[in-house]
Amino acid sequence: MEKFTNKMTVQDIDVTGKRVLVRVDYNVPLDETGQVRDNWRITASLPTLKYLLSKNAKIILLSHLGRPKGSVNPAMSLRPVQAELARLLDHPVDFADDCIGPKAQKAVGLMRNGDILLLENLRFHAQEEANDPEFARNLSALGDIYVDDAFGTAHRAHASTEGITHYLPSVAGFLLEEEINCLSREPADPQRPYVAILSGAKASDKIRLIENLLTHADKIMLGGGLANTFLLAQGYDMKNSLVDLERVDLARELMARQEGAKIVLPVDVIAAEAVRAGAGHKTVDLEDIPPGWGTVDIGPKTIDIYSQAVMTAGTVLWNGPLGVYEIPEFSKGTALVGRAVAQSRAFSILGGGDLAAAVRRDGLTDKINHICTGGGAMLAYLKGKPLRAVEALTDKVAAFPLDPSLDIEAQMQEGTFF
Ligand code: ADP
Ligand code: MG
Repeated sequence: MEKFTNKMTVQDIDVTGKRVLVRVDYNVPLDETGQVRDNWRITASLPTLKYLLSKNAKIILLSHLGRPKGSVNPAMSLRPVQAELARLLDHPVDFADDCIGPKAQKAVGLMRNGDILLLENLRFHAQEEANDPEFARNLSALGDIYVDDAFGTAHRAHASTEGITHYLPSVAGFLLEEEINCLSREPADPQRPYVAILSGAKASDKIRLIENLLTHADKIMLGGGLANTFLLAQGYDMKNSLVDLERVDLARELMARQEGAKIVLPVDVIAAEAVRAGAGHKTVDLEDIPPGWGTVDIGPKTIDIYSQAVMTAGTVLWNGPLGVYEIPEFSKGTALVGRAVAQSRAFSILGGGDLAAAVRRDGLTDKINHICTGGGAMLAYLKGKPLRAVEALTDKVAAFPLDPSLDIEAQMQEGTFF
């Protein structure tokens, strides 16, 4: 797996007094009153922001929130983040109602060293996701240096993640650097047995990762919609369970193609009449899902099997909760296997917004080696897909005044450059 150690980081560039555009991932959940319900993504950005403050930079924050699909939607304003960030940093944070144009320009023009300015949701403009060059250039004109600290969007080439790098020196922030360095530990030299857990709702995204994991993991244990799809492919009648009908053939093919029995499926489940708190539910074997009911969690026998596997693992990679963790009655699988991972001596990497929320709620974060803030980016990376935004960052060598008569490659190999 490629490491990005050749990319410049925020520590490799002089930021003092500069206007530093920082792409953060403040795609945080808001509650009914519009307040930040879970601030961990904001907390995760603090090391980079504190560093920039210590260097007296002017900090201009870029982010998206939700999917406003190119039009202004007040329910997806980043304003609630302004107050939360100011509280967490204990430092004033200004806000501009637009991320480009006169409002943004004026706000940036007023900044002094050590000021922080949060710009409104990038995705209020359709050009952001379209990676429109003109939009990217307009964003870039607000700053002198670009810092990418948004791992969650690292696999996407958007104007604020890739386009902008064509116009500014572009470096990684601490969070992005940490995520990548940690993930880079994954397939290179995993302690064995290497046990993967893939679950959650998005079978279509995750099934391709199984293909990749089959070559280097020792066990791949499934839950959620992914498990349902595989069980259907095995001939079980999954009744009203969440399945991905378009992936059933692929599931069958992967089961047939695996060496030994690497892919592990639930042997029992919690079935419920609806995915709703208070709905009737019971533990059943796979043949016994009542008509019209669907799975909402793995059952106790499966919890034992999965827990045993992670307790004796050398490496655990886990993406997606094992059940409908949002509803207490259906959260046992995620909680108990989570506890087993926490107790295990295995090196553990967890990812996915929902799984991360579940383990935080269960108070297990301290006992997990690494929790990825961006599930999609983690999956893309582990599938071997390029992280477009990271690739676009400035290479370390390019920062040095180069003598064209010298053979750079050779110098790098000799280590005289670093
Ligand atoms: P992550 O964000 O961790 O990658 P996903 O977004 O893929 O995970 O899936 C999380 C969602 O999957 C949760 O909302 C959870 O309720 C749901 N889920 C888990 N198991 C089931 C199941 N058996 N049936 C329906 N939904 C499920
Ligand atoms: Mg999710």
